[in-house]
Amino acid sequence: MVTLSSVIRPLASNLNRQLVRHAKSQRITPVRTCNLTACSSKYVLSQMHPMWQGPLTIPGGERQSPIDIVVRKSIFDSELKPLVTDYDPHTCQQIWNNGYSFLVEYDDTTDKSTLKGGPLQDKFRLCQFHFHWGESNAWGSEHTVDRRLFPAELHLVHWNSDKYSLFEEAVMEDNGLAVIGVFLKVGKRHEGLQKLVDALPAIRHKDSIVEFTRFDPVCLLPSNTDDYWTYHGSLTTPPLTESVTWIIMKQHVEVSHDQLAVFRSLLFTSAEEDVQKSMVNNFRVQQSLCGRTVRSSFTPFLQEAPSAEDDKHTH
Ligand SMILES: [Zn+2]
Repeated sequence: MVTLSSVIRPLASNLNRQLVRHAKSQRITPVRTCNLTACSSKYVLSQMHPMWQGPLTIPGGERQSPIDIVVRKSIFDSELKPLVTDYDPHTCQQIWNNGYSFLVEYDDTTDKSTLKGGPLQDKFRLCQFHFHWGESNAWGSEHTVDRRLFPAELHLVHWNSDKYSLFEEAVMEDNGLAVIGVFLKVGKRHEGLQKLVDALPAIRHKDSIVEFTRFDPVCLLPSNTDDYWTYHGSLTTPPLTESVTWIIMKQHVEVSHDQLAVFRSLLFTSAEEDVQKSMVNNFRVQQSLCGRTVRSSFTPFLQEAPSAEDDKHTH
């Protein structure tokens, strides 16, 4: 089976070496500072995965992710169509703690679970989904909307099966990947998510994998998938390639504080390690827009975008 993990695992473990090699072979940009609380707090950064605590440099590039979505600057594009998701729950195979997040992996050897429409011209195959979250409910999402942070963010990762034959090929190419992002807010318990939450204690440690089947990720999408922002960006984990068409849902989904607490009970570390480290703050700091345009499928001035007022964080 082709999985993101097969690419990420060796790359993540060698990130420091990779960055050094990258620095020698290409121009590098000093790490871009971000004035979001979660990005600038030395405490939060010190609690993040060691992957982001290496050299103070990141690969250069002008299409990096995540970004802050400025609602007023997003451009309404009437050509943007509704998304068409067609997921077969039987392609769901396993959950894996990769030491940075947990991946719910799907069989992507056929076009059984696909994404079409929206900003996409081609058909994209679902290969995995995962989340990013904070140690508290005050931060955790990678993208933000008008600098508003959410406690967590879901990423459904798809690759272009019209143009490429393997994920590993698509991940390096323009128009190779399409990732749906969904913000999670703390509120009522999410019934669809609970089956997944119940399975997480079995993969508490890094590198543990358990069978996980018949999960339809459509239950994790908001009721309105017609309204979204889209832009060209990158993976937010190594290899950070600029191959991603991002589709960020305007509407968030609610999960309970207890459900997020189970996410936070996972560990970055393996069972053999002496010091165990909680899996929290597994997000990348924000990147510059560098002149890119964020398009919206809806008119921001006619429909209300998420505002800070409707967010009552539960701590
Ligand atoms: Zn992600």
